[in-house]
Amino acid sequence: MVEIIDGKQVAASVIDAVKTATAVLEKNTGVKTGLAVVIVGDDPASHTYVGAKGRMAKECGFTSIQHTLPAETTQGELAKLVQSLNEDASIHGILVQLPLPKHLNAEAIIQSIRPDKDVDGLHVVNAGKLATGDFATGLISCTPAGAMLLVRRIHGKDLSGLNAVVIGRSNLFGKPMAQLLLAANATVTTAHSRTKDLATVARGADILVAAVGRPEMVKADWVKPGATVIDVGINRIAAPERGEGRSRLVGDVAFAEASEVAAAITPVPGGVGPMTIAMLMANTAIAAHRAAGQTPPKF
Ligand code: NAP
Repeated sequence: MVEIIDGKQVAASVIDAVKTATAVLEKNTGVKTGLAVVIVGDDPASHTYVGAKGRMAKECGFTSIQHTLPAETTQGELAKLVQSLNEDASIHGILVQLPLPKHLNAEAIIQSIRPDKDVDGLHVVNAGKLATGDFATGLISCTPAGAMLLVRRIHGKDLSGLNAVVIGRSNLFGKPMAQLLLAANATVTTAHSRTKDLATVARGADILVAAVGRPEMVKADWVKPGATVIDVGINRIAAPERGEGRSRLVGDVAFAEASEVAAAITPVPGGVGPMTIAMLMANTAIAAHRAAGQTPPKF
């Protein structure tokens, strides 16, 4: 029987650990953990995400500050806000919700966040620390950090002898995920749109991670019998069977058929998705502990 990896449950245990660590930090040092979320414009999906992050931050016991800027905000105005948050000692984590409106240079803004407050883990300093194995001072991109916790639930911390294949090579997910698997001693292949015979490459994986953005691309015959499958994709597709105009979410893996072959698999929704926000809270707790000179919690 395939094990369905319950991301909601793992995320809840991360949140519990964050709440405890946050309360202990405040009791011992008087430091209240602060997260600032910046949103520019009125993209409804971004507002939904930001709202959820703010609510979760409050639940964790953080001071949660949201800066909502109009769509016509200039690069200079946004840079000035980030600069003031960089200098604000009560703020330990800064998150600029992406995507930004097209006239803004998102990369320049991300790189202007102080690396020790970059709780999204997207600054080149944090990417470099992950690449060189500096887990003591770096912050790791939230979705790969969360996906890695799910891998650990199945295989433990040491992946020696296991082949891992990550499909996708984005800076946001594929590259950091490959680095994390490598740091845990897996033998890692990163596949992408130019990979030849992807199905055969995927079938070599004991741990198969799909982060492509193509609905149900990974079929049962891409999966090695007994493999662990981590599905990062979030794709909304039409679901006429649910009524006219209705839709549903699917991953990058054909879940039902892949479940017949895999030993463990993440569902969509309810797998990697809930881990992203949980790891954002975890990164903020880590950043606050470091700023206060305290040993950060481990996740
Ligand atoms: P991305 O930047 O668009 O990267 C997609 C990657 O997939 C690229 O490396 C691309 O290869 C590769 N690819 C595209 N078509 C392919 C094909 N036919 N065969 C093999 N590889 C192919 O996307 P991303 O930001 O990494 O996100 C990937 C998916 O994860 C999306 O569905 C996104 O919604 C989801 N996601 C979920 C969460 C979460 O919280 N659960 C967070 C982030 C992302 P090239 O580099 O060669 O173009």
